[in-house]
Amino acid sequence: TIGMLALDAKGNISGACTTSGMAYKLHGRVGDSPIIGAGLYVDNEVGGATSTGVGEEVIRNVGSFLVVELMRQGMGPEEACKEAVMRIIRKKPDIAKNIQVGFLALNKKGEYGAYAIQKGFSYAVCNDAKQDLLIAGKSYY
Ligand code: ASP
Repeated sequence: TIGMLALDAKGNISGACTTSGMAYKLHGRVGDSPIIGAGLYVDNEVGGATSTGVGEEVIRNVGSFLVVELMRQGMGPEEACKEAVMRIIRKKPDIAKNIQVGFLALNKKGEYGAYAIQKGFSYAVCNDAKQDLLIAGKSYY
C-alpha cells in the first residue's frame, strides 16, 4: 500500500491510499485499502490515518478509524499508531510475529508519526521545513 496524508495551508486534512493487494490472494478478496475506516480514515476535526500490510488484521480492528479516534482522545500520532499495532499483537501474538501491519498518522497540528509490527516500515515527510525527509518508523520487533 502507498498511503498519503496531507494538511493544507488552511488546516484541512486529506488522505488517499493505493494497494497492490496480497500475493496469492483469493479471487475476489477485498483488502483494507478500499474500506474507509480500515486502510484509510480522515476526520477533519482530528486528523488522518492510513495503513499497510495484512489487510485482514487491519479490517478486524478497524485500524485507521481506531488511530484517528485515539488521537481524538488525546494521543499523539505515533502513540495512536502504536496502540493500534498493539491491539493486533495482543489479540493474535502468534500470527503477529510473522506478519507486517503498519500505520501512519497526521493530526491537525501537523504532527505525524508511524508504528509497525515489523521493522523496515519507513515513510517520507515533505513540508516547508523538512523537504523530502525519509523517516524510519518505529516497530514492535
Ligand atoms: N493492505 C493491503 C491489502 O491487504 C496490502 C498492501 O498493499 O499493503 O490488500
